[in-house]
Parts: sequence; structure tokens; C-alpha cells
Amino acid sequence: MIDWKKIDTVLLDMDGTLLDLNFDNHFWKEFVPLKYAEKKSISIVSAKQQLEPQFKCMEGKLEWYCLDYWSNVLQLDIAGLKAEISGLITVLPHVTEFLEKLQQSSKKVLLVTNAHRDSLGLKMEKTCLRPFFDNIISSHDLGFPKEHAEFWGLLQQQQPFDKKTTLLIDDSLAVLNSARLFGIAHLISVSKPDSKQPIKNVTAYLAIEDFRELMIGL
Ligand SMILES: [Mg+2]
Repeated sequence: MIDWKKIDTVLLDMDGTLLDLNFDNHFWKEFVPLKYAEKKSISIVSAKQQLEPQFKCMEGKLEWYCLDYWSNVLQLDIAGLKAEISGLITVLPHVTEFLEKLQQSSKKVLLVTNAHRDSLGLKMEKTCLRPFFDNIISSHDLGFPKEHAEFWGLLQQQQPFDKKTTLLIDDSLAVLNSARLFGIAHLISVSKPDSKQPIKNVTAYLAIEDFRELMIGL
């Protein structure tokens, strides 16, 4: 699937790529509505009805990933709530083996995420994946989410990489599209970002169901 000899930098997304998106889906679709309903003394159904359009219109924007933004808008301690159910944070199958193999190679490995620093910190603490990365970049530090082509230019200034020998693995098609527009040559998607959901049918990019498919030749 990938000619590893041609790759010297690997950019890895976190949620839905290395970590099970079930945590985030459960958090935003079930746990936040529950806590919001409790706070407002309304039913969970009405809480979901009120929250869905608010979430929808922030999709792909940096604020969508900002815990402070949502704490402010919803008047809930979002970081605290995440910590409350942090037991659900899990690494997707075969990710650790893949990262171990990458670490043994001479390739530069960067975690590149839209996650807010608080969320990132919690997830690294729960999963112990931090040592596998040469660096960790949150789009909040660059001022643009990964869905924007500007993000990749700023990333390249901070962490020099050659577009032709760089591989990005990300479950978001919007992110892959912006990386393609910027010129990153090797792009791979993930067809099972959430362990509790059926496999996604991805046609625009090569897609892996799990990381075993990428370990050949590494
Ligand atoms: Mg993702």
C-alpha cells in the first residue's frame, strides 16, 4: 500500500486515527447532552435538539475543538467532564505495534491534531503514546484547523518536511483534502475510526481498517 522507502516524515492524526473516536462521539453525543439536560432541567431529547445545531454550525472551525469555547457557551466544565469519562479513551487496534515499528525506523513522526491542549494532555496521559512522537502539534498553536490549507504551510515552517516524502494518515476527509491541496503527496484515510460504528466506505483515498495493513515493508 505504501512504499516506505519513499517516506521520511509521518504525520499522524490523533482522534479517529490512533485513538478510538468512540470516546469523542460518546462524549459529545451522549455525555454532554446528559449533563446539559441536568443543568437546564430539561429532557435529554430536548438537550440533544438544542445542542445539535450548535455543534453542526461549528464543524471544521477551530472553536469546535476548543474546550474553553464550549465551556463558555454551554456553561459546563468540558475539560472536567472529559476527565470524568476518561476511562473510555482507548488506542485503536495495532496502533502501538505500528508506532513501535515507526520508532525503530529513522523517520520523523509527528502527531498533528486539532485537539485542544487540555484534551491532548488528558489523552496522552491515558494512553502513554507521547514517547512515540518527535513532536506534537496542536492546530490551536498555529491558529488554523487542519481543514484549512494555511495550516500546512505554517506547520512546514515550524517543522520542516518535504511534501513529496511525507505521509499523512487522518480519518477526516476534509483534512485530507486540505493536505492534498497543499501538496502532501501520500495520504491515507481510516475506514474504522470508531470501534462501535460500521466501517466507512472511503473511495477518495486509500483507507486502512487497522494499522496492520501499513506495517508491511516498514
Ligand atoms: Mg481525526
